[in-house]
Amino acid sequence: QTVLNNIPQLPADALFGIKQRSSRDARDFKVDLGIGAYRDENGRPWVLPSVRSAEKAIHEDPLYNHEYLAINGLPELSIGAAKILFGEESHALKEGRIISVQSISGTGALHIVSKFVAKFLAGRAVYLSEPTWANHKAIFKTQNVKTEAYPYWKSSTKTLDMDGFLGAIKSAPNGSIFLLHACAHNPTGLDPSKEQWPTILDTLASKEHIVIFDSAYQGFASGSLDNDAFAVRLGLEKLAKSCPIFVCQSFAKNFGMYGERVGCFHLVLPQQDANVDISKINRAISSQLSTIIRSEVSNSPAYGAKIVAKILNSPDLTKQWHKDMITMSSRITSMRHALRDKLVELGTPGNWDHIVSQCGMFSYTGLTASMVERLETQHAVYLVSSGRASIAGLNKGNLEHVAKSIDEVVR
Ligand code: PLP
Repeated sequence: QTVLNNIPQLPADALFGIKQRSSRDARDFKVDLGIGAYRDENGRPWVLPSVRSAEKAIHEDPLYNHEYLAINGLPELSIGAAKILFGEESHALKEGRIISVQSISGTGALHIVSKFVAKFLAGRAVYLSEPTWANHKAIFKTQNVKTEAYPYWKSSTKTLDMDGFLGAIKSAPNGSIFLLHACAHNPTGLDPSKEQWPTILDTLASKEHIVIFDSAYQGFASGSLDNDAFAVRLGLEKLAKSCPIFVCQSFAKNFGMYGERVGCFHLVLPQQDANVDISKINRAISSQLSTIIRSEVSNSPAYGAKIVAKILNSPDLTKQWHKDMITMSSRITSMRHALRDKLVELGTPGNWDHIVSQCGMFSYTGLTASMVERLETQHAVYLVSSGRASIAGLNKGNLEHVAKSIDEVVR
């Protein structure tokens, strides 16, 4: 009778807590810049035209059904997913060095890698950027994988702490695991430049570190899949000579299919000597991934996977999807400019250029926790206490209110 009576209650998830508070807020001028989900110019969720067309085609297919997928998921999804991430011309793809399986969105892919690390790379710590997406630490913790932090954000200049980052790479024990955000770093919106990436990756290679790329925003950051895959593709060139690389890929943001949980996990084998039978290693790892997936979810959800696979494998839908990503990324970019310009116009103390130089869904505004609290209580503007604002929540109708509210709290 008493065995469950003393279970402690945990605090609500910080992000979903913001959503709850903002939905209860009766002020009609409220603005939710908390959760990282795209909103259109009217502040509403947006179903991508490419997704609508793919759904229609799927429903009209006379063979439409709800059968189970294979344990490793829908091959049309994972093969197409690997192509957009690594590029059709990828050497690793052509050489059969990439093992791809479907996952429950990006979180599920991270969960697969955490189990894989616990089983086959035990004892190595996973290094996470400081700050990072809050769930990273939690996911590895569930598998008792140790995490460490590497410096990333320099708050005094709102730029990348390159010296700190490289220093951490050099001082970590050889063969450690580094998790890198492929693009549109969450929460800062700050990515290494195309000049900084080669130095970071060369330094990682010199220590034989293993990299996990978390790719949750490909195409969403700049509107271009190739551009946003720059770090992953360079990583394969520089790091896959001797070490494996893991990539966790989410389709939540770039397809606007947050709740459908579509993603993939890719394991890239290092280059091998000519006498090594790659297909044998491939089959062995694939069987291990199947075992992980089978015991967790039996097999991945089919509906969203079919939609994404349809788009990736139909040239007309692919074309429409590329346009859809430009629609989302360019609206966010224009909101970044509008917010910065309004703050400058208001003469708001401080420099706000970082809002436009950052990319992706988020801006690390530099607002303090007490300013964020005042924004919420006095102005009904909701953002994360770290000062992270989801720029996707801004639109022409609420921008002035947000800018004036920021202006008031920083003075
Ligand atoms: N990784 C990062 C950096 C993210 O920001 C997110 C979502 O916010 C994810 C992974 C995983 O998202 P999902 O599981 O919805 O694909």
